[in-house]
Amino acid sequence: MKPVAFDYARPRGIAQVLELLDANPAAKILAGGQTLGPMLNLRLVQPELLIDITRIAELVEVNENDDIYAIGACVTHAAIEDGRVRDPANGFLRRVASGIAYRAVRTRGTIGGSLSHADPAADWLSALLVLGGELEIAHAGGMRRAALHGFVKGAMETDLGAVELVTAIHVPRGSRVARHGFHKICRKTGEFAEAIGAVTTDTDTGFFRMVAAGGSEQPVLFDDPKPLFKNGDPLDAGSFDMDMAMDALREAGMEPDEYELRIRAVAMSRALQEAMSP
Ligand SMILES: Cc1cc2nc3c(=O)[nH]c(=O)nc-3n(C[C@H](O)[C@H](O)[C@H](O)COP(=O)(O)OP(=O)(O)OC[C@H]3O[C@@H](n4cnc5c(N)ncnc54)[C@H](O)[C@@H]3O)c2cc1C
Repeated sequence: MKPVAFDYARPRGIAQVLELLDANPAAKILAGGQTLGPMLNLRLVQPELLIDITRIAELVEVNENDDIYAIGACVTHAAIEDGRVRDPANGFLRRVASGIAYRAVRTRGTIGGSLSHADPAADWLSALLVLGGELEIAHAGGMRRAALHGFVKGAMETDLGAVELVTAIHVPRGSRVARHGFHKICRKTGEFAEAIGAVTTDTDTGFFRMVAAGGSEQPVLFDDPKPLFKNGDPLDAGSFDMDMAMDALREAGMEPDEYELRIRAVAMSRALQEAMSP
């Protein structure tokens, strides 16, 4: 199948994108096209206009000061994998990027496209959720910031308005002692995850979060993961309890299938081991 006919625009600035969106409610933003391309071909989306944002300089920049570390929405997975973008999370972002799909997808796919699309099995979604990432969003009236936790409303459902543009991803700076773990279970390298576990711990700030994701359900964030540990101490990886984790996932609304829950708990446990390993 081929896409329906559409117009194509390649604006040079964010203001122009917003003007185009405002004037064309049936328009679609095109970033890396790695998800949108197949959706167009299958006619799951039938836009009248594609707005290509990949040539907008501000969207491939990284802005850094004492308070923020903001990665432009059009920075590709490959740019992060290759270290062309500094990693404020001690190598965690680089590691996550390298596990997304195949190199060909990574050279085009963007961090902003992935988060805007919000596939529940997407690697960035879990990784940035566990870090406490926020999105910077432009709209005709100005800018807003949205915590990733809360921005995603369901599988491929976000609170992003039709005339809004994700411009950057704010990554909180961890301290030097921050540790991270990420474990993805998939049948074949390069595939979307069957299960993801992500962990971040920072003993300087007391920040400890875990995420479990998989299938078509929204990732679950534990910002107080004590109930997953036998002795209630998340710094004691050995006391992570698989059954308690599965119960917690069930309580959080994840599907009751035993196998699905178990691989998510396993992914969390392996991410934890990675975060805690010397
Ligand atoms: C074979 C294959 C395997 C893959 N495997 C994985 C995997 O293992 N893990 C993983 O995480 N991902 C995987 N992906 C998805 C890949 O990471 C895509 O890059 C990503 O989902 C979408 O990014 P994109 O830049 O290509 O966005 P596009 O396809 O261009 O856009 C996706 C959607 O987001 C919207 N959009 C894009 N950018 C913005 C923006 N800045 N503001 C507002 N809306 C925007 C678009 O309108 C569209 O609706 C895979 C893709 C393929 C083709």
